[in-house]
Amino acid sequence: MIKENLEAVHKKIADAAARVGRTDKITLVAVTKNHPVEMMEEAARCGVTDVGENRVQEAMQKLEAFPDNGLTWHLIGHLQTNKAKPAVEHFHLIHSIDSEHLLKAVNKEAGKIGKVQDILLQVNVAREESKFGMEVEDFPAICELAKGLDHVCVRGLMCMAPNYENVEDVRPIFRIARALYEDMKPKFPEGQIQYLSMGMTHDFEIAIEEGANVVRVGTAIFGARNY
Ligand SMILES: *Cc1c(COP(=O)(O)O)cnc(C)c1O
Repeated sequence: MIKENLEAVHKKIADAAARVGRTDKITLVAVTKNHPVEMMEEAARCGVTDVGENRVQEAMQKLEAFPDNGLTWHLIGHLQTNKAKPAVEHFHLIHSIDSEHLLKAVNKEAGKIGKVQDILLQVNVAREESKFGMEVEDFPAICELAKGLDHVCVRGLMCMAPNYENVEDVRPIFRIARALYEDMKPKFPEGQIQYLSMGMTHDFEIAIEEGANVVRVGTAIFGARNY
């Protein structure tokens, strides 16, 4: 099933890109959270290069069961400061930096192991009360702060859209995210801001039409999750 599902997702990604005349690279992050490591292994055999996990603990268990996997690991779920250490030890890109406090904690832990941690800033573009992500108003100051830190490298922006009944309603949210992302580029060294992470199973095609170049897709590849 995974192979067929992946083919279908890749086709939808290509079709969405073609609709808006895009030819740039779009990275598919296969979200393996709440699925057994065997599914991650199967995805890797089917050509998946990037995997997304929500929880540091779960990712560490999978890394232990599937070492030398050669995959790029994305932390996409909310990160608590007390997990900053294992997060910088195990993840290539942390999408969910959503506060000054967390930014500083990740910088500190990365410094201890001599790493420069690639991160995305997660912005609560939709202003949802229940969702994670920094407030749009705090975003400029956190960008400035990040620039002064030696052990984090801001690579772009991540956002999540609400689960609207009519999926088209996400489009204005993604447009705002795209504008914020474009605004970041001149504020950082040339070429540093490269990733706009938005779009999940229900809305990744719209996200791509609106400029996402990293999409995080779980259900469409692996089926429903068991909690
Ligand atoms: C779970 C999750 C996804 C994937 O969601 P699907 O709807 O299963 O594609 C993407 N991004 C984040 C932040 C998630 O927590």
